[in-house]
Amino acid sequence: MVDVLVIGGGNAALCAALMAREAGASVLLLEASPREWRGGNSTHTRNLRCMHDAPQGTLVDAYPEEEFWQDLLKVTGGITDEKLARLVIRASSTCRPWMEKHGVRFQPSLSGALHTARTNAFFMGGGKALMNAYYRSAEKLGVQIRYDTAVDRLELDEGRFVAAYAGAERIEARACVMAAGGFESNIDWLREAWGQNELGEYPADNFLIRGTRFNQGVLLKSMIEAGADSIGDPTQAHMVAIDARAPLYDGGICTRIDCVSLGVVVNSAAKRFYDEGEDFWPKRYAIWGRLVAQQAGQVAYSIIDAKAIGRFMPPVFPGTKADSLEELAGKLGLDQQVFMQTLQDYNSACQVGHFDHTALDDCHTAGLTPAKTHWARPLDTAPYYAYALQPGVTFTYLGLKVDETAAVRFGGRPSDNLFVAGEMMAGNVLGKGYTAGVGMSIGTAFGRIAGSQAAAAVFKRMEKYAAA
Ligand SMILES: Cc1cc2nc3c(=O)[nH]c(=O)nc-3n(C[C@H](O)[C@H](O)[C@H](O)COP(=O)(O)OP(=O)(O)OC[C@H]3O[C@@H](n4cnc5c(N)ncnc54)[C@H](O)[C@@H]3O)c2cc1C
Repeated sequence: MVDVLVIGGGNAALCAALMAREAGASVLLLEASPREWRGGNSTHTRNLRCMHDAPQGTLVDAYPEEEFWQDLLKVTGGITDEKLARLVIRASSTCRPWMEKHGVRFQPSLSGALHTARTNAFFMGGGKALMNAYYRSAEKLGVQIRYDTAVDRLELDEGRFVAAYAGAERIEARACVMAAGGFESNIDWLREAWGQNELGEYPADNFLIRGTRFNQGVLLKSMIEAGADSIGDPTQAHMVAIDARAPLYDGGICTRIDCVSLGVVVNSAAKRFYDEGEDFWPKRYAIWGRLVAQQAGQVAYSIIDAKAIGRFMPPVFPGTKADSLEELAGKLGLDQQVFMQTLQDYNSACQVGHFDHTALDDCHTAGLTPAKTHWARPLDTAPYYAYALQPGVTFTYLGLKVDETAAVRFGGRPSDNLFVAGEMMAGNVLGKGYTAGVGMSIGTAFGRIAGSQAAAAVFKRMEKYAAA
């Protein structure tokens, strides 16, 4: 029998597998996907958010614990567990040498990458290279890896892990780490969670999934049904407004539309509905998917003029281009009169000061609802561009409740050999909202904890038997 079974094949799973193996445990990792699709959402990532008190490697200046914590507190609106959040923040300051030991390399942040050179460490080659490095290291250390193996449920004995079932196959282990992602790929579950809106629409029918198709939440659902303590609202998720032309799965970051704060966003009624300049884009991009999900038809349009070009990461598909705002409205199929009124109202409300996209500048609107509080400049320079937006789900926040040991809990009692990491428990730290790079900080911190704890649980039990 293997010592530690790791279920999942993304960042959190690999961190757990490597830590358990380094501690001397034998490890078997089960990944639902075929080898060529291994790595889950983690393959789409670019960076992790890191605390540091002075310049460190590719990270410039300082990003102290308190600032990281305040950023998290603000985006979550206080729906977070401070103890676990601070644990993640502190772990983010020390994990990089360990990651480098396993072959991960860092590079300076790219220009236009959401103002993150100070706060986020970028993986050279992106998440795909990070996952390949971890898999290579795991194989070298003797971690057994099985692909095409989706676990449906666990066999438990009063909160203790006994075995996992992949179809009819029963796989025993002395301890287990679950790191099988959220349920974002499961459209039926999203449909059930979001229900119908006042227009009779099922908003989830128009959601696109930014990452893997393999995070179906099967194990999460079965654990909740088996009585594991859960946390989080099933409708809360990291949701980005992405290009409406993106594929249903795995569109990745190149379908993100990053020019929202440089222009205005209107819905299908050609009306604005939210402050596009509320805060820096890294702190706001993850709320726009939800905002678009709340509009009729779950569609909206990001409108910019020529002044914005070169100031944001260009998306993979070109925008709709027009020489006048009237022509743009026509191309988008929006009511021209309403659209022109919306744009005229906005343009005449702009109080232009010193435009600075790298600061919370003084360009704002006056007497307009909703206001645009920063980077408000009239849209008056042709050519004009528009991008149709749809909600892109990155990952869901409903998960299993944990304490600082990453143990799964049943009626408040922690299991002594079953642990959880990554998206399956990220909701403990992220009740809502998001700040760029914190998904990988949570997965790395808790993946490493879960792997160490699982190995420790195995050795503790062996010692107990040896002493008996
Ligand atoms: C486009 C995109 C860009 C992102 N960019 C960033 C970024 O730059 N920085 C950041 O911090 N976060 C980013 N995120 C979020 C980040 O991907 C997640 O927070 C993180 O990868 C979660 O890691 P994980 O290991 O929990 O999940 P995943 O990496 O998704 O891994 C889950 C794994 O479990 C497997 N699995 C699922 N069900 C089963 C089952 N029943 N049995 C066995 N295996 C199963 C899946 O195949 C997958 O391998 C991004 C996400 C996306 C989609």
